[in-house]
Amino acid sequence: MKRKEAVIFAKEVLSAVSSECVAEAEWLIALLLNIRRSEVYSDIELTKEQEKSFNFALKEREKGVPLAYIFHCANFYGYDLEVDPNVLIPRPETEELVELIIKQGVSKNQTILDVGTGSGAIAIALKKETGAKVFAIDISEGALKIAKTNAVRNNAKINFILSDLFENVGDLKFDIIVSNPPYIDEVEYNQLEHSVKDYEPKSALFGGKDGLYFYREIINNAPKYLKDSGKIFFEIGYNQAKAVSEMLKKDFTEINIKKDLQGKDRMVYARLKERR
Ligand code: GLN
Repeated sequence: MKRKEAVIFAKEVLSAVSSECVAEAEWLIALLLNIRRSEVYSDIELTKEQEKSFNFALKEREKGVPLAYIFHCANFYGYDLEVDPNVLIPRPETEELVELIIKQGVSKNQTILDVGTGSGAIAIALKKETGAKVFAIDISEGALKIAKTNAVRNNAKINFILSDLFENVGDLKFDIIVSNPPYIDEVEYNQLEHSVKDYEPKSALFGGKDGLYFYREIINNAPKYLKDSGKIFFEIGYNQAKAVSEMLKKDFTEINIKKDLQGKDRMVYARLKERR
C-alpha cells in the first residue's frame, strides 16, 4: 500500500468515529512514519512492518483511543510532549492561556506555580518562553512522572512537587499562579465524546457536581501563596466566567475574562488586592 492510499483508507475507516477524519488520517500516517503531515500524500510504498503498525494503530483509533495515546505524543506550544492515559492531552485552548500570560509580561526573576500540571504542558511552555522560576504541582504520581520526563526532554528546569492542591507547597510564594483545573460538571461529563470520556483521566476533567470545585479551592487558598500584587490565571469552561469572576471578587481586583479563538469565554485572570 502507498502512503497516500493508507491516508485515504484511514479516512474512510475513521469517518465513523471522528468528525475530523481527514486531519486524523493524515496525522496517523505522519506520526506512524515520523514524517511531516505535508508529506503523507506520497507514492512511496509502506513496508510490511509499517503496514502492520498502520493496521494496529488504525484499529486502536477506531475503538476510540485518541491518537495522542496511541503514539504517546502531543505537541504543545511547539514543544513535543509525551502523553499517556495518566494525563489529559493538551488542548489548543490552553496554548492561548500560555500566550495570554506571556503577553502580560513575565520576567526571569519572577516565580510561577502551575496547579495541576498534568503532562507539564503549561509549566514547560512558560519556563521555555519566559525563563521564570517555575514550580508545578499535581496530585497524581503518574502525571508527575510524565511531566518530569517532558521537562527533561525539553530541557526545562522545573521544580515538581507531589501535592493535593497546595498541601505540600509549604511557605513558598509566587508572582503568578496558573491553573487549568478539571472543570467539567456532572451533566457535561456524562455527555463527553467517547474518545475523551473513555480514555482521558476523569481526575483531570471532572470538576465536581457543578464543575467549580477546584476554582473554589484554588481561589480561597491562593492569597496565601501569592506575593503582593500577584496574579492568577485560569482556563475555564465556556459557561463559567461569571461564577469564577464572582469567586475572585473577595480577594482579587482587575478581573478579566478572555475568549478563545472559537469565541468562547475560556480564560479568567486577576490581580491580588492590596492586603488589609
Ligand atoms: N477542555 C477540556 C475538554 O473539553 C477540559 C479540560 C479541563 O477540564 N481542564 O475536554
